[in-house]
Amino acid sequence: DPTRPAAPVGERISSLCATIPDYPKPGVSFKDLTPVFADAAALKAVVDALIEPFKGHFDAVAGVEARGFLLASAAAYAAGTGVITVRKAGKLPREVVAEDYTLEYGTATLELHTTDLAPGSRVLILDDVLATGGTLGATVRLFERCGVHVAGVGVVLEIDALNGRGALPGQQIHSLLHL
Ligand code: AMP
Repeated sequence: DPTRPAAPVGERISSLCATIPDYPKPGVSFKDLTPVFADAAALKAVVDALIEPFKGHFDAVAGVEARGFLLASAAAYAAGTGVITVRKAGKLPREVVAEDYTLEYGTATLELHTTDLAPGSRVLILDDVLATGGTLGATVRLFERCGVHVAGVGVVLEIDALNGRGALPGQQIHSLLHL
């Protein structure tokens, strides 16, 4: 029905998002956003909503491996900017900066090519889920070490109880849905 107004983006996400209990390990409630990405109208609504508050304030969009790549690539295309990849250790072939971050058990490392963005440029960082904030906190530090200004952080879903915001002091965080 074309006369029916589109559902707000948060409602679309919550109706399409799948929740998988005890995946990938007991106690974790996994939020699977692949049905959101697979839905043409939802993907467009999500990408447009992620960019909206930051329009005119970023020169590039960065995505965190791997689901962040999907969002960042679409957002960069929509905004007319380039896309930057923040990758797991050992995947980028040239000179990198690296940041370790804490996972539930042990640590992991993210890397960024040092010459992907000029110092002083402004980046919008996107990922699917903000949980403890370890991943996005490390991503912010990578750009700051390269002299790049973080214009903002956008996520489809924020798990409020895990206080990911605490790992992102001073950042403007835009979440399309809070759980
Ligand atoms: P964190 O570093 O704890 O904020 O975790 C964020 C990263 O792990 C994101 O890239 C998510 O893709 C993934 N992640 C963490 N927790 C969940 C969850 N409950 N459901 C889906 N993805 C998650």
